This record gives sequence, C-alpha cells and structure tokens, in this order.
Amino acid sequence: MTDIPVSHPRYASLVARERVAEGVRRGYTSTQGLIAQGRGECFDYLIGEKTTPAALQAIRAAAAMLLLAERPALSVNGNVAALAAEEMVDLAAALKVPLEVNLFHRSEERVAKIADLLREKGAAQVLGERPDASVPGLDHARALATRGGIYDADVVLIPLEDGDRCEALVAMGKKVIAIDLNPLSRTARKATVSIVDNIVRAVPLLTEQVRKHSVAPRAELEAMVRDYDNEKVLRGGVREIKEHLEGQF
Ligand code: ATP
Repeated sequence: MTDIPVSHPRYASLVARERVAEGVRRGYTSTQGLIAQGRGECFDYLIGEKTTPAALQAIRAAAAMLLLAERPALSVNGNVAALAAEEMVDLAAALKVPLEVNLFHRSEERVAKIADLLREKGAAQVLGERPDASVPGLDHARALATRGGIYDADVVLIPLEDGDRCEALVAMGKKVIAIDLNPLSRTARKATVSIVDNIVRAVPLLTEQVRKHSVAPRAELEAMVRDYDNEKVLRGGVREIKEHLEGQF
C-alpha cells in the first residue's frame, strides 16, 4: 500500500481509500466498489468525518436489536472486507454469530477470497460459499443466501448494501440494520435502523455497545428499540449535515 504520513490532515480517509484499492488488487473488492467508496467519502465529508449524535442513536438501537434477535446475521461484501474485516469478525465474536459473504457483483472466486480473509482474521464461522436459498424478488445471483445465515435471520446487518436487496430483506419480514453514509440512499430510507456513518467508525462503536449491553435486562433492550424512530433519526442526520455545512463559511 502507498505510504501515507500519519500527519496528513486527510489520513483516515486516504488510508480507507488505499484499503479499498488494495481490496481490488487482491481480488476481493469489485472495481464498482471503488465508486461506492468515492460516494461514501463525499457524504463523509458532508457529515464532518465524525460519528454524529444521530448515528450514535442508531448504533445504540442496532446493538439492542441485535442482542434481542433470535437469529441475527451479519453480511460482508467486498468493500466491507477491505475496510473492516477485523472489526466485523470482532462484532460476530461479541454476538457469537456467523458472518455471511453476500456480494452484489457475485463471483465464486471473490466469495472464496473474502471468506478466506475473514477466517484469517479469526472468524469462527463464515457462510456464503454454498448458498442454499434465494431471497424472493431479486434476480438469481443477487438473491443467493444461506439458511442459518441471512436467509432465515430475523435481524440482518447490511453494511454498504444496495437499496433493492435492503427492500427485499425488509419484505421478507426481517428487521434490517444498514450502515450507509448516504442518508438519502434507498437503503437508508428502507432499513429499520439506518446508521449514517463510516463503517470504519461505526462497527467498533456497535461492538462496544453490544458488549456494554450484553447483560442488560431484556426489558431495557426492548425499550431502546421501541423508543427508536428511524425516520426522525434520518431527519436529524440531514439536519446535522446542513448545520455542518452552514458552519463552514
Ligand atoms: P441505494 O441503492 O441504497 O440508493 P446506492 O446505489 O448508492 O444506494 P451502492 O453504490 O451500491 O448503493 O452502495 C454504496 C453505498 O454505500 C453508498 O450509499 C455509499 O454512500 C455507502 N458507502 C460507501 N463507502 C462507505 C463507507 N466507508 N461507510 C459507510 N457507507 C459507505
């Protein structure tokens, strides 16, 4: 990877960009993933490259929802693997659930490479190499899912997902938690809980909240979920962008 001096004012963003480029070179991120990263960077700029209060609210609700779930599932695609493989493994360990490789531009080679990367980072169980079910309403390759993972999960975490798949999972009756820097994306609008934050910042905070609340009484977790209003939080997120922009000049 290109050497980036830690003193560079855009260090975190440049490291993330390098990681996605490296993911493409190593064959686990698609070339389209570079464009998705660029779109994400743009929104990260607009929110001020920090976890906002609205995002933190969503992260807390997401942690409670994952802890209450009977069968939670965590989805990993090529950009997620490039940016937060270790962090996703850590989250899976905290919840004691498998990770599932789930690609928009699916190729068996990329699935295998990402699964190997996750195992290398210490994942206890990785699904997705032998999908045995289809999510209704999506075309063949995009519909593939695994029983015991995303297909029969009641709560699914989908970082950096496309809107159609988010909508199809919601239509199956699942609670869907998205991580997406764009509060206007179809994914963010359709998800049950939308974490508008960079995956690099959001997943460690989510794991921290899961660990913090892992022994919380069920009633407390249920109240955290009940009190959460995704539309209100998204509106708050857009307001935060506006305020951040107005404060610039
Ligand atoms: P939709 O179909 O939901 O309207 P889209 O077509 O923009 O969304 P993609 O380009 O498939 O969806 O997904 C990329 C999404 O992921 C974008 O909304 C982008 O803002 C977001 N994204 C990219 N990089 C990151 C990141 N590092 N952290 C969080 N979100 C990111």
